[in-house]
Amino acid sequence: MSTEPDNLGRPLRNLRISVTDRCNLRCNYCMPEEEYSWLPKSDVLSFEEIMRLVDRFVEAGVNKVRITGGEPLLRQDLDKLIAMLAERPIKDLAMTTNGVLLAQRAAALKRAGLHRLTVSLDSLDPTTFALLSRRNDLARVLEGLAAARDAGFRHTKIDTVAIDGVNDRELPELIEYARSVDAEIRFIEYMDVGGATRWRMDRVLSRARILERVRDHFGGVTAVPRSDSAPAERFRLPDGTTFGVISSVTSPFCASCDRARLTADGMWFTCLYAAEGHDLRAMLRGGASDAELDAAVRAVWSYRADRGAEVRAGIPDRGALAQADDMRTNPHLEMHTRGG
Ligand code: SAM
Ligand code: SF4
Ligand code: SF4
Repeated sequence: MSTEPDNLGRPLRNLRISVTDRCNLRCNYCMPEEEYSWLPKSDVLSFEEIMRLVDRFVEAGVNKVRITGGEPLLRQDLDKLIAMLAERPIKDLAMTTNGVLLAQRAAALKRAGLHRLTVSLDSLDPTTFALLSRRNDLARVLEGLAAARDAGFRHTKIDTVAIDGVNDRELPELIEYARSVDAEIRFIEYMDVGGATRWRMDRVLSRARILERVRDHFGGVTAVPRSDSAPAERFRLPDGTTFGVISSVTSPFCASCDRARLTADGMWFTCLYAAEGHDLRAMLRGGASDAELDAAVRAVWSYRADRGAEVRAGIPDRGALAQADDMRTNPHLEMHTRGG
């Protein structure tokens, strides 16, 4: 039975599960520091614990699940979790990955029943890729994308954080590359989420400027009518190629946000920007019954009034959301812990 909509009338439909806070890249917009505080391994939920919570969220109305991280492919035996999820009534079962380990894992993920992949890729230039991610793994990501296609994945998405002065000149090339691997690219505005300690407004390549860059190269760009609550606005080029823009900074979409986020250690956040989470691990390990978990999910969602990106948009002279020292004592503030 679906839970009631939240305080702002938004249903609970979407669950993002971070399966690890560890990552094999160090993207400048997400993990720019040298040192991080990691979640204790003993706090990380087992697959059985994750599934117990998934079943409660599905009961509450979730029908879309995305596996994320950190880097989800660092979690051992992830295809076993995927296989368990694939048995549930989930209409969209997806994963966001940086693609570094995808070439070895794509076939097993497909066999396990994963529906779709989103691969993050910010540049096709090895130097820019290394500057942004602080690792030299571009070739492996490209191999991963090719392997995903060969394994039979369709409707793959490529996510690119567009940063002024870094990869802004590459957008047309990235669109052409995505088309060549049967993927659709989405350009994401650089967000001031926890973890983005180097964020500055003048680094954000706005939706308007992204469209200008694409239009200058390809000619006309027409909007594709929206069909769901997905955050990306989609556009079509004269030759029919489509691409998306996620304008979380200049045009936030909190009004239709139906997402819950579960960290690897079982904290539930109702917004990327939320100050506090709800400790579902304590309930699970404290012996809560399904009925008690259901009641907690209903109660938290009914009080939800988050509209973090909209609130941030109203702050004059905004800077980074959190400082590195705050995140060292509270790693749950980090985007790589909360799951993007
Ligand atoms: N490691 C995986 C990956 O990079 O695809 C999954 C986790 S990552 C946190 C999920 C998404 O968050 C990525 O597509 C990444 O580009 C995005 N992201 C991280 N920090 C961001 C920021 N400051 N602004 C916009 N997007 C960001
Ligand atoms: Fe980059 Fe994803 Fe790792 Fe963050 S979690 S550093 S976005 S690869
Ligand atoms: Fe949803 Fe919070 Fe993002 Fe707004 S800022 S879209 S409420 S997660």
